[in-house]
Amino acid sequence: MNNNIAIDGPAGAGKSTIAKRAAKELGYIYVDTGSMYRAMALYFVRDGISGDDEQAVSEACEYIDISIEYVDGEQVVLLNGENVNSLIRTEQIGKMTSDTSKYKTVRKKLLDIQRGLAVRNNVIMDGRDIGTCVLPDAKTKIYLTASAEKRAERRYKELSEKGVSCEIDQIKKDIIARDEQDMNRAIAPLRQAEDAVYLDTSDMTIDEVVKEIIKIHLR
Ligand code: C5P
Repeated sequence: MNNNIAIDGPAGAGKSTIAKRAAKELGYIYVDTGSMYRAMALYFVRDGISGDDEQAVSEACEYIDISIEYVDGEQVVLLNGENVNSLIRTEQIGKMTSDTSKYKTVRKKLLDIQRGLAVRNNVIMDGRDIGTCVLPDAKTKIYLTASAEKRAERRYKELSEKGVSCEIDQIKKDIIARDEQDMNRAIAPLRQAEDAVYLDTSDMTIDEVVKEIIKIHLR
């Protein structure tokens, strides 16, 4: 029986926080697909490859192995065996990720891994194309969003708490640019699946969103 939950939505909508909590309550495995794309982007940055150079990016894919494991319930992304969790959350990597996740070779590399995880386990998987491409048969599909202002505010708070100096206006600009690119690419663009429930979390607390998703899933 397929009990999988697919959560898609734009940057900073709170997908990972929500999905992680819901996974814990349901006893499911949380799969953060964005971090897999981010780990690949880290490889391209380290290799000095330009995000515009599709050929170089595609060739580099041959040398990249991405896997995930769980340590104390937390997803750890391994890039050629190295735990890169602490290196992939920067805005620089976020931009490179969006620049390179539009390429066929990059997407193909991760699709099988993501589907394989959902065959073996009950998963809550979040990303941009989970309900539309990766898990079209997921039992529950959610399109999670919030206003650009709210999303920028949340990202600003998260970064500030980590001691990263940043400007809210710049964050908002980056988020909007990344969404534009993710929504308008040719392969697996970010969009709401026809059978997904639309949830605007601008005025909802984390607890309310988690409860709502679980209610939708179990009904
Ligand atoms: O969710 P997160 O912000 O970590 O995603 C980073 C980037 O990875 C997105 O902006 C998008 O370009 C890409 N991504 C994707 N497909 C997914 C998950 C993430 O293209 N399923």
